[in-house]
Amino acid sequence: MAKIGFVGLGNMGGPMAANLVKAGHTVTGLDLDDGAKARLADAGGRAAGSLIELMGEAEIVITMLPAGSHVRSVYMGGEGVIALARPETLLIDCSTIDVQTSRTVAAEAEQAGLFMIDAPVSGGVGGAEAGTLTFMVGGPEPAFERAKPILDAMGKTVVHAGGPGNGQAAKICNNMVLGISMIAVSEAFNLADQLGLDRQALFDISSKASGQCWSLTTYCPVPGPVPTSPANRDYAPGFTGAMMLKDLNLAQDAARTTGTATPLGAGAQQIYTLLANEGLAARDFSAVIEFLRGNKSD
Ligand code: NAD
Repeated sequence: MAKIGFVGLGNMGGPMAANLVKAGHTVTGLDLDDGAKARLADAGGRAAGSLIELMGEAEIVITMLPAGSHVRSVYMGGEGVIALARPETLLIDCSTIDVQTSRTVAAEAEQAGLFMIDAPVSGGVGGAEAGTLTFMVGGPEPAFERAKPILDAMGKTVVHAGGPGNGQAAKICNNMVLGISMIAVSEAFNLADQLGLDRQALFDISSKASGQCWSLTTYCPVPGPVPTSPANRDYAPGFTGAMMLKDLNLAQDAARTTGTATPLGAGAQQIYTLLANEGLAARDFSAVIEFLRGNKSD
């Protein structure tokens, strides 16, 4: 069993760290929020007072932070994880951040003789609690092999996507598909309503026909056809519109940097930006159907 330092014990990191404790690892956690640290202590982990204290014994460091700027500041600089880590320490960043930052931090870690992977997740808070996350991993093979049993304790699918930053690349490409497909399915249901086509009938047909996709069959944006989808609980998240917008922004940044044409990704980014400007970003991202319908109140 490993001695693990876990930085960022929020909605995702908290339950992920608790699952590592359950698997028998020694977990020391750090967060800016004392409540988050107390929850780790309740789950059987230990709260650290500082990064220096956390790094003292850590063989593996895992981070689950909001964005690239937080990852940079925690890893880099004279008092960062890379400077404080003992040789051979394995670093795992599970945050969703931009590919460039991920590659910059990984290169600095490699120069310092450390093993590092990026391992962003899908599966949301429910997946973090249940230990059923999907990890998309970028980094060298030996680092991946060392990390795999640790990630297995927090998830059910772990995929190696290639070199540094490729986990982040996979995450934003996947979520661009998700954002676009949710808008497509929502437009189809709204059009069906106007044409007098029953929602269940559209679902029964499209879920067996060429319009079939996850946004339709698992996360259907109208109540009824898929009883577990957020539409059945007034779009309580789930995965918020704000999270979707964050990932679409990352995808558009990457598209600009690489000169890739992504007109539908750009359109999806615009739609979720407008949705957020209407104050709807805290609802599940599938509430985009109501935004498109112009029905913002229910
Ligand atoms: P969160 O805001 O709940 O948690 C982030 C935590 O990091 C907070 O508790 C914050 O206090 C802590 N933090 C920030 N800076 C810190 C620092 N310098 N030192 C120590 N702690 C620090 O966010 P979350 O929902 O847990 O998301 C974390 C990451 O996971 C994000 O990158 C997000 O995009 C990604 N993600 C989230 C979901 C989801 O459904 N919530 C799903 C997939 C991926």
